[in-house]
Amino acid sequence: MATPDEPATIHRIRVGETNCYLVRSAGGTILVDPGPPGSAPAIAAGAAAAGVAPGDVRLILVTHGHLDHYGAAGDAQAWCGASIAAHPLAPGLSRDRRNALPPAQTLRGSLVRWAYLLLAPLLPLRPLEVGVFLEDDEDLSAYGLKGRTVELPGHAPGSLGIVTARGDALVGDLLVNYAVPSQPLYLSDRDAWQASYERLRSLEPRRVYVGHGEPFAGQALARIYPGRYQFRWWVR
Ligand SMILES: [Zn+2]
Ligand SMILES: [Zn+2]
Repeated sequence: MATPDEPATIHRIRVGETNCYLVRSAGGTILVDPGPPGSAPAIAAGAAAAGVAPGDVRLILVTHGHLDHYGAAGDAQAWCGASIAAHPLAPGLSRDRRNALPPAQTLRGSLVRWAYLLLAPLLPLRPLEVGVFLEDDEDLSAYGLKGRTVELPGHAPGSLGIVTARGDALVGDLLVNYAVPSQPLYLSDRDAWQASYERLRSLEPRRVYVGHGEPFAGQALARIYPGRYQFRWWVR
């Protein structure tokens, strides 16, 4: 059992190409990004493996309104009963089918996206339903975590990250790390992305946890590659 002064531990649950995270501390656990539709069984299994009971989850935080991050939000809520939190701009983004699944980071992701866009008119639209709106620099201690939100627009409007008291940063799709820490392929606003990246650097996180690919040390923020470099992982 964690003691109140122990730093939060971060458990990654990979569902397809998306990373979901359990941020666990003595005060409870925050599920960051429940993942694409159908992820709930993987979340439940990952939580069990990490020793997190459904009742330990105090909040489901969606980093942004893209389907690969929020699609299982309703099912995750049915599993644990926690409120779903996101930025006020996230639900609107999720109501636009083309925005809901932006150009993908990988070949397989692109194939999934095209299949989705072809089938989308036949599928029921499941927009993000949010119970708790969070914006920049909000204290998460009400949900048991010593940490704050940080607004990181650029990949998508209304993108939220978390920085814990220990300096772990969960940044959604602000960055990806398939081969090297990179800019994502898809940017809704290049200038906003640059400002968010500089803001994250100024916070000097010890470790950065991304929505796609491997976590990396904060020092690597000094050299972020353009999005095309991430394709190295499947050509090498
Ligand atoms: Zn995204
Ligand atoms: Zn994503």
